[in-house]
Amino acid sequence: MDPSRMIKPWKLHPQRVLVFVNATIVDPVQGELIEHANVRISEGKITHIVTNGASALTEGVADENVIDLNGKFLCPGLIDCHVHIAVVPGEADLRAYKDMSERISLLRQPRVLKSMLDRGFTSIRDCGGASLAIKEAVEEGVIPGPRLFIAGFALSQTGGHGDMRGPHDSQLCCGGTMSGISRIVDGPAECYKFARDELRQGADFIKIMGGGGVASPTDRIDHVQFSDEEIKAIVTVARNAGTYVTSHSYTPQAIQQAINLGVRGIEHGNLIDLETAKMMAEKDCFLTPTLIAHVMSKQMNFLPADGAAKNDEVLEKGLKAMKMAVDAGVTVCFGTDLLGPMHFAQSKEFSVRSSVLTPLQILRSATVNAARLVMQEDRLGQVREGFAADLLVLNENPLEDITILDRVEEHVLGVIKDGRVAVSRWDQLAVDICP
Ligand SMILES: [Zn+2]
Repeated sequence: MDPSRMIKPWKLHPQRVLVFVNATIVDPVQGELIEHANVRISEGKITHIVTNGASALTEGVADENVIDLNGKFLCPGLIDCHVHIAVVPGEADLRAYKDMSERISLLRQPRVLKSMLDRGFTSIRDCGGASLAIKEAVEEGVIPGPRLFIAGFALSQTGGHGDMRGPHDSQLCCGGTMSGISRIVDGPAECYKFARDELRQGADFIKIMGGGGVASPTDRIDHVQFSDEEIKAIVTVARNAGTYVTSHSYTPQAIQQAINLGVRGIEHGNLIDLETAKMMAEKDCFLTPTLIAHVMSKQMNFLPADGAAKNDEVLEKGLKAMKMAVDAGVTVCFGTDLLGPMHFAQSKEFSVRSSVLTPLQILRSATVNAARLVMQEDRLGQVREGFAADLLVLNENPLEDITILDRVEEHVLGVIKDGRVAVSRWDQLAVDICP
């Protein structure tokens, strides 16, 4: 017996060599279909793609590992760039946020991760709350889930979007105190220290609360948070470590402050104006709108009264803002930001966006654009030789109707992550990973 398997009996078995024949590849870069393609994957990678009918790819491959995709579509795995797997899974509303222990949350997170994989998300970017421990558990095969890119704790100022104390809570909180999914930091010195500490503890990027938010009790949406000096300190830390900062910002003022100081990503951005969108395009910044969160928060009465009023305001403007940003040339990514009981609606973001964007624009947001945001553009987001074998088998063309990705049970026949079939709804595709 392999001794490493004795120590870690959950270690995943090496990937089988799989060959898909007669596939129609969905290419989000060119916005085209590549027909009659044969695709060979092994050791987690796409090793060969041929379109000239050459049968050499199947040589030496067992029959059950040659899968005929005639009439089916092979699409890159999806990437959700704004999730919070740690925020009150299994609770009906946000009132549970202050009291939920990290242990309770952690035990429930595998369910959230598996459900995301089931929907076709092979990678996710957690914008606050997910730990290195859960990321490594997925990588090691302890639990199935999408590959994770994590922010660790988000950084917030006192009284900012990450500070969950109400106005009658007079308890002082000192530097770096954790509040929900955030750490409270004030002044450049604490910003340096705790940005560095997040990186030390495995953060792939740094998330800051650069403006007011919906779910926080004592700030307003139009507040600008953090001073220039504080943001500069955090940007310096991230840059020195070869990564980037992304900011929770809704208003033009908050967005402009952040991007002028070197912040690379903007989360939400619902209230952006044209001037600011143009600045973002010029600086090659990324915008990750999260519209479904606002739709569902309203439908499910998720927020307390003060949050609900703020939510209405940003929901109305968010769709128009996203369209304007895309038209201005901003790289827009797919995000959802669903909390608590709302994760089931993750794929509905595709339908919400389809009222203002084309299927290609939306598919790019969840594949190539997202891959660039997580700095994996050479590895993720495309069905291409040398790329990770993160693939979806679909029975309809998403470039024709993107909302098929929202009807998962009907249209997403298989989800392959790292060259292993993680989910199958089709008898021709055997599952490699036990749930
Ligand atoms: Zn968020």
